[in-house]
Amino acid sequence: MNILKNYINGTWQHSTSKETIDVVNPANQDTLAKVPYGPETKKDLDHAVSAAQNAYNEWRNVPVIKRVQVLYRLKSLLEENMEPLAKIITEESGKTKAESLGEIQRAIENVEVACGTPMLMAGDVIEDIATGIDEMMIRQPLGIAACITPFNFPSMIVFWFLPYAIATGNAFIVKPSEKVPLTMMKIFELLDQLDMPKGLVSLVHGGKDSVDAILEHPKIKAISFVGSTPVARYIYSKGTANGKRVQAQGGAKNPVVILPDSDIEMSTKIIADSVYGCAGQRCLAASTIITVDDQKREIKDALYETVKSRTTGYGWDDSVSMGPVITPESKNRIEGLIQKGIDEGAKLLLDGRKTSISGYENGNFIAPTILENVALDKELITTEIFGPVMSLISMKNIDEALAFVNSSSYGNMACLFTGSGANARKFRNEADAGNIGINIGVAAPMAQFPFSGWKDSFFGDLHGQGKHAIEFFTQTKVIIERWPNIWSRKF
Ligand code: NAD
Repeated sequence: MNILKNYINGTWQHSTSKETIDVVNPANQDTLAKVPYGPETKKDLDHAVSAAQNAYNEWRNVPVIKRVQVLYRLKSLLEENMEPLAKIITEESGKTKAESLGEIQRAIENVEVACGTPMLMAGDVIEDIATGIDEMMIRQPLGIAACITPFNFPSMIVFWFLPYAIATGNAFIVKPSEKVPLTMMKIFELLDQLDMPKGLVSLVHGGKDSVDAILEHPKIKAISFVGSTPVARYIYSKGTANGKRVQAQGGAKNPVVILPDSDIEMSTKIIADSVYGCAGQRCLAASTIITVDDQKREIKDALYETVKSRTTGYGWDDSVSMGPVITPESKNRIEGLIQKGIDEGAKLLLDGRKTSISGYENGNFIAPTILENVALDKELITTEIFGPVMSLISMKNIDEALAFVNSSSYGNMACLFTGSGANARKFRNEADAGNIGINIGVAAPMAQFPFSGWKDSFFGDLHGQGKHAIEFFTQTKVIIERWPNIWSRKF
């Protein structure tokens, strides 16, 4: 069985650790590879940091216009390898082919935006801030940065950070999710083809021990984390206590409000895509759907009709619109939450449990599930389910819906479906969430914009992507200069 190697100092190296865990295909439980794990992986991180320090010393002095040349090449390599990359994503995460291709496209868009770093990292100058004195602000790289990523976007999330970090002159270390490390192996095969100093980018496998090594290493200056809220909180508090710059994106519980004046046919299709896309395992998946003034059940019935026609199965099969969830534990947890909701009084409109897919009987499949009349203070409404479950609740008006939206401890995304500009304006102004969708079901910011998140969905100041990323990976330096003209002096 293939034991995955780390990519350190420009070479593929075996981990110091002999301990491994299995990488498993969620559609059939096949073991795809073994990934290094355990306390000994800390030594791998030390090796990566040593190599990164040397590479950084060289790279920071390469002109930015030359540094971005590697990104142009990377964009081409990613485009040429979209299909094989997508296949790996589907094998290890269960996504459909379209979802896997879609996330690579989002990764490429971040590479494109980071190609603008020669302009994006420009500083400011004011001549004659006082007579004969000029002042300027420049941006310099931090040194070594690291990122820790979740299972649900094996390719895309690293690209919210990596292209910006290296374009601004930093070295970068990636610790991918141990559940889906194969996609990053392929991406590092592509990075290996770029003309960069050895050690500038490193891939270090592992779990909590590798993460703790990153949090503790004095030479790592910045950490980008994406994952669940409890881990994001831990990374932020420990990383900042150790003097590091940290951006930590956490979990979510995304409400979607649908008003009776919306285009119901279009809205319900978009909402279903949001709830069940990636089997509900998206940090921007709609989870609680709030129908407003739906006395004749027009919205609820339309949702039900749209959802029941969705097909669940092996992601690479073109006829499938939803794959499995990531692990058997995840499947058990989600099914347990559904049962708990029923026991607490929710009405089950569509039951996706006990789904068996021919040829994939061992897969972690749950078909689309809908629950209605879920109590607002219960787990189905208050916790992140991260599975293909829609909880339907009813409200009388937009004010009541907004009060509910704003009562959540999370603030990753909130969406409104309406035909009224006035309602849209009120919602985008008053909703307490960092990403707002108006007649949009997955309000994922494009690479030019920060991937915002509020409340328990984000810890830090600057987010990933775009100008925020440029700021995160640079420190400002202000220089005040006086140049007396000694030749014009009279002696
Ligand atoms: P996770 O928090 O379990 O794992 C994320 C990373 O943290 C992995 O690399 C893992 O090795 C590491 N890790 C796990 N437990 C740790 C611990 N105790 N100490 C230190 N490191 C630890 O998250 P996941 O299950 O892989 O991903 C799903 C979560 O990510 C969901 O909550 C989802 O909402 C969130 N997510 C958020 C965003 C966002 O932009 N806000 C985007 C994608 C995913």
